[in-house]
Amino acid sequence: MKLTTKILIGLALGAFIGLGLHFFAPDLFNTLDAYFFSPLGTIFLNLIKMLVVPIVFFSITLGVASLGDPKKLGRIGGKTILFFLATTTIAITIAIGLAYIIQPGNTGIDPSGAEYESQEAPTVVETFTSIIPTNPIQAMTEGNMLQIIAFAIFIGYALAILGKKTEGVMKFIEQGNDIMMFLVNLIMRLAPYGAFGLLASAIGRMGLEGAQAMAAYMLVVLFALFIHLFVVYGSAVSLLGKMNPVQFFKGFFPAFTVGFSTSSSSSTLPVSMKTAQENLNVPKPISSFVQPLGATINMDGTAIMQGVATIFIAQVYGSELAFSQLVMVVVIAVLASIGTAGVPGVGLIMLAMVLNQVDLPVEGIALIIGIDRLLDMTRTAVNITGDAACAVVITESEKKHGLPEEKTAE
Ligand code: ASP
Repeated sequence: MKLTTKILIGLALGAFIGLGLHFFAPDLFNTLDAYFFSPLGTIFLNLIKMLVVPIVFFSITLGVASLGDPKKLGRIGGKTILFFLATTTIAITIAIGLAYIIQPGNTGIDPSGAEYESQEAPTVVETFTSIIPTNPIQAMTEGNMLQIIAFAIFIGYALAILGKKTEGVMKFIEQGNDIMMFLVNLIMRLAPYGAFGLLASAIGRMGLEGAQAMAAYMLVVLFALFIHLFVVYGSAVSLLGKMNPVQFFKGFFPAFTVGFSTSSSSSTLPVSMKTAQENLNVPKPISSFVQPLGATINMDGTAIMQGVATIFIAQVYGSELAFSQLVMVVVIAVLASIGTAGVPGVGLIMLAMVLNQVDLPVEGIALIIGIDRLLDMTRTAVNITGDAACAVVITESEKKHGLPEEKTAE
C-alpha cells in the first residue's frame, strides 16, 4: 500500500476513534490519550523535529553553495520573496472579501464575557533586526529559523567563493545533508502511526464543542483556504510553473497530510522538502532555499485565518471598518504572517497584533480559540503547499538560466 494511503487511513481512524471516545467514553479517552495517542503522536513529532535544525542548516548552506554566483542567489531570492508577498496579499484579500459577503459574525454571537490575555508579539522592526544572529550556536539551540537561515546563507556563500580551499567542510555539509534526508525517509514510514496518534488526541480533546456556534466562521475560513489552495496555487503552478495542477497536488499530498497532522510548518519541513524534490522535480538547491524560507515567513493559510477573524470580530462587536483600516489589515496581516513562527497556534497570537492596529477588542480572540486547533491543521497544510508552489514556479522560471545542480565536493 502506498504511504499516502496509509497516512490517510491513519488520519481518518484517528479522527473517528478520537471523536467516538470523546462522546461515548471520555474516561477511556483520557487514559488512552495519556498512555497511547498523545505519546505516539509526540514521538513522531519529536522524530521529525529532531531533523529540522540540521536540515535547515545543511540544506541551505548546500543550496547557496551550489547556486554559487551571488547574482543567481539574489535573483532567486527576489523572485521568492515577491511570490510570497503576492500570494499572501491575495490570500488575505480573498479572506476579507468572503467574510464581508458571508458575514459570519452577524449570526447573533454574544461577545460578553470573552476574555483573552494577549501575549507579547514581536514588532515588525524586531523581527527584521533580529534576523542576523549574534550567536549562531544559540540560534541553533533555540531553533530560531530566520537566524539559522541567515547564518547558513553566509556560510554557503563563503563556501561557493572559497571553492577548493574549503572542500573538506563542503563534503561534511553534503554528507550531513545526505544523512538527514536518509533519516527523513526512515521516519516517514512512521507517519501513518504518528498521524493517527496526533489526530486521535487532538480531536478526542476538542470534540465538536464550539464548532456549532462558530460554524459560520469556520466555514468561511475553510472556504477561503480551499479557494486559495486550488484556484490561486493551482493557477500559479499551471501558468507560471508549467506543471499540471493535478500532478502537483497529488505529488505533494504526503507532505500536506503531515502538515495537517502536525499543525507546524517547521516540523513538516524535512518532509515537504523531500516531497518537493522527489515528487515535483524541484532541484535540491532551489528547494533548499525556497522551502525553509517559506516555512518561516510565508503563511498564506495563517493570513487567511487572520483576515476572516478580524472581520468576524468586527462584526461580532458591531464595529465598522473603514476602507483605509481594511488596507491596514492587509498590510499588517502580511507582516504578521512573516513574523509568525511555523509552530502550532502562533497565528492566533499574532492576530492580536492585527486587531490592535485597527482598534478591535483583542478579547475577541477568546471566541475563536476553542476551535482554532482544527483550523490550525488546515491552514498549516495550506501554508506549506504555498512554499512548494513557489518552489515549482521558481524552478520553471530558472530553466532559462540553466537549473542549478547540487554541488559535490569531488
Ligand atoms: N501552525 C501554523 C504553521 O505552522 C502557524 C499558525 O498559523 O499558527 O504554519
